[in-house]
Amino acid sequence: MESLEHFQDLRRRFRHFECEVFSVRMEPTLLHLPRVARFCRERGVVWDYQEIMGTFAFGNRPFSPKWWQENPLSVKDLEKLDHTLAELAALGFPAARLAQTRDYCRHPDRRRPCAVGYSNLVIDYQGESKFCFLLGAFGTWRDPLLATWRRSPRARAERRRTLACPLPCSLLQCNIYQSTLPRAATRLRRLLSCREPGPTG
Ligand code: SF4
Repeated sequence: MESLEHFQDLRRRFRHFECEVFSVRMEPTLLHLPRVARFCRERGVVWDYQEIMGTFAFGNRPFSPKWWQENPLSVKDLEKLDHTLAELAALGFPAARLAQTRDYCRHPDRRRPCAVGYSNLVIDYQGESKFCFLLGAFGTWRDPLLATWRRSPRARAERRRTLACPLPCSLLQCNIYQSTLPRAATRLRRLLSCREPGPTG
């Protein structure tokens, strides 16, 4: 709560500063998500959720393709899931996003196309630019980022690797592909619905 208040204070002082809360959607948090969404909305904070994923991007453990069967935190109670999604729908959460979540929980092993080559730019702790932490770098933060991301031969080669990648990341936030216009519209809608009330309320 102190961190949130600190970031809210920064938002009041710097209008371009954004503060977003991401909840991890998993079995123990499932029924609480709508409450967190309402809590954030009342404070003018953008809220979204992220699916729990297998530990494959960091750490030394090998990735298990059936990780959700072994992981006690992954959502298995589909009735509870539907209840939560209905509540989020009533709060105005985009239907397409909720449908993706429903589909993912029912068929977690379905192969879905990876979109990070078209939607992502990661700059890692060494200043290298990548589409995904698991793939190679195509430049550094010193390069003209957008031009390098779009057109450099290394970026094109890495983009081809994302399309052929066998890992089933599927539903990481960065992996949901939306073309620019719906993306901008969603962002604008979220920001407008979360504007903080002024001093007169
Ligand atoms: S599927 Fe995509 S996001 Fe996942 S590891 Fe492969 S390239 Fe990265």
